[in-house]
Amino acid sequence: MQQANAYQTKTTCPYCGVGCGVTATVEAGSLSAVEGDREHPANYGRLCVKGSALHETLGEQGRLTRPRVDGVEASWEDALTATAGRLNALRQEHGNHCVAAYLSGQLLTEDYYVANKLFKGFLGTPHLDTNSRLCMASAVAGYKRAFGADAVPCNYEDLEEAELVVLVGSNLAWNHPVLYQRLKVAKEHNPLMRVVVIDPRVTDSCEIADLYLGIEPGSDAYLFNGLLAWMAQRNKLDTRYLERHTEGVDEALVAARQSAGSIAEVAAACDIDPERLETFYYWFASQLHVVTLYSQGVNQSSSGTDKCNAIINCHLAGGKIGLPGAGPFSITGQPNAMGGREVGGLANQLAAHMDYHTPGALDLVSRFWATDSLTPCLPDGPGYKAVELFEAIERGEVKALWVMATNPAISLPDAARVRAALEKCPLVIVSECAAHTDLLPYADIVLPASGWSEKDGTVTNSERRISRQRGMLPPPGEARHDWWIICEVAKRLGFAEAFDYSHPWEIFDEHARLSGFENSTASGGTKRLFDISGLIGLGREDYDALAPIQWPVTVATPHGSARLFEDGQFATANGRAKLLAIDPRGPEQALSETYPLRLNTGRIRDQWHTMTRTARSPRLMNHRTEPFMDVHPDDALEAGVSDQALAVLTAAKGEFRARVRVSNAQRRGDVFVPIHWTDCFTRQARSSALIDSITDPLSGQPEAKHGAVALAPF
Ligand code: SF4
Repeated sequence: MQQANAYQTKTTCPYCGVGCGVTATVEAGSLSAVEGDREHPANYGRLCVKGSALHETLGEQGRLTRPRVDGVEASWEDALTATAGRLNALRQEHGNHCVAAYLSGQLLTEDYYVANKLFKGFLGTPHLDTNSRLCMASAVAGYKRAFGADAVPCNYEDLEEAELVVLVGSNLAWNHPVLYQRLKVAKEHNPLMRVVVIDPRVTDSCEIADLYLGIEPGSDAYLFNGLLAWMAQRNKLDTRYLERHTEGVDEALVAARQSAGSIAEVAAACDIDPERLETFYYWFASQLHVVTLYSQGVNQSSSGTDKCNAIINCHLAGGKIGLPGAGPFSITGQPNAMGGREVGGLANQLAAHMDYHTPGALDLVSRFWATDSLTPCLPDGPGYKAVELFEAIERGEVKALWVMATNPAISLPDAARVRAALEKCPLVIVSECAAHTDLLPYADIVLPASGWSEKDGTVTNSERRISRQRGMLPPPGEARHDWWIICEVAKRLGFAEAFDYSHPWEIFDEHARLSGFENSTASGGTKRLFDISGLIGLGREDYDALAPIQWPVTVATPHGSARLFEDGQFATANGRAKLLAIDPRGPEQALSETYPLRLNTGRIRDQWHTMTRTARSPRLMNHRTEPFMDVHPDDALEAGVSDQALAVLTAAKGEFRARVRVSNAQRRGDVFVPIHWTDCFTRQARSSALIDSITDPLSGQPEAKHGAVALAPF
């Protein structure tokens, strides 16, 4: 029974991109229980094991509670003054572009907004990127090429309404568990629904699969090019839709036929059974209500953008988009990867979903932020994407880096090189919740930040749904909210007027106003799809009570927009979606005699990122108590390693030591390792040490799914 002094607060889960609603109970000053919010449209009361253990991961132990400057505890005033003073000194000596920021999909939209405004708008540097680059940048680039905007067309109900759901490069059961639960229940209620899983590994998601295609890692574009060619050959294209709403189909078909003209060719390229392949093609082509859900297995590739467009091509060619239960649906990894994109938190973006090359964007944003009088004001071109940013630090070009709520010393590929770059960077500022991370030893200035359950703001989940995260507990010690820290530094840099906010609702209101600022076709140009001007002027009370809502939210759509492109109008200049000619490419990290095995990396069910929170829950740790490597029985035999023995994986840049799990779920020649363990937990089990810093040339997303390694006994 709830105690008399207990109260409940509705918020959202801080982990994956499903964005589940959480009802949290606070008793005697601490969070005593969590349950799924029955009214939240993402989860309707469900939580996965990570979400249901949220209250077990809190507490002051292990938290950063005081600012530090040069390794010595400092007052906030001294830390803020040092941050502003050192940033300014470097700018004066080396120019605006010598300062940079690296943000995170863990930040709330309001934090992201003021960080983007400060760095791009007022410090005049384009070098602000985010760890979302590592998870969904290819999906963003794919959507932009096809639809003219970074716009996810579908929603979660579409998964339940589909006749066919295709999971590509996604272990939904472990990485987006509540969506998987929804899909599983929908399938139980609809015996006609089919699920196809396309993944090099046999994962728990295969439990509901009617068909599993265990493809060669990286061969996705061959498979979807083959589908496009097969549909054309069998007269399964929706020619009416293509004529009315798209362009580029002829070029896309030529490329598809060249790379994947027959079932036999595709089956050989993907190393799968031709009959199973044709079954999939038949199912896809004969259903209108198809959702293809894809995630990191597609995105984390040197050709991730092309893979996304190969998938989107097939949906456009079949008219399977803009309908209930239909569409290409990328699922984000982090709780606010989408919110960060909305404010312009990628280095190629300017603000409010506008890129530097968006016609009129520089002038519009400059006028809105009133930066047109600054010298120089907004940068006029994109900044460095994540991997490039650390290369620029290595070269000495970028001399000041402010990292917020993320740990590039672990998560970026070729981590040793990243650490060497951080070592020589003249100024590293880190805003962080946890007292012990692999990044903190590189920090000159450490700023303790508030965390989940302490801070207020909004996040946007994978179906474009904006939800409130609500604070219910005070931050420990002297920890402060990220938006406050950024604004206080901005004030000390001389921008007090532009950063004079007293609460996140004021920031959200400005964000909403910028999204709708001069967003009309009346003045010519293309109307911007990301528009939440319908949420302008909420006021503090309405903001506090804001119910989950999907953008666009405008005067015309005050209750939000469940689905995009229902009218066949896209966000391109001519309103047509574009099919792309895709020339499939394999992974760039080449296998060799020295490194003959293909390395796959990913999450496990009960851990989140670098485990700073989830490792605090014993029951979450019980799922997998230590790092491991999954190895096919024949590969284990050949390497002379046995199940449960310690072994070492070696790549050109590093090593990974862990226990072997011999598994038939692996393809022959493929090894899987988890991404979570850091040097804070166990030495020599960092997956990023095995990945080279090769990226997709369009999206800048690292090729984290395709390392090249050798296996040997420890
Ligand atoms: Fe949290 Fe994702 Fe689990 Fe939902 S599915 S409870 S958002 S980790």
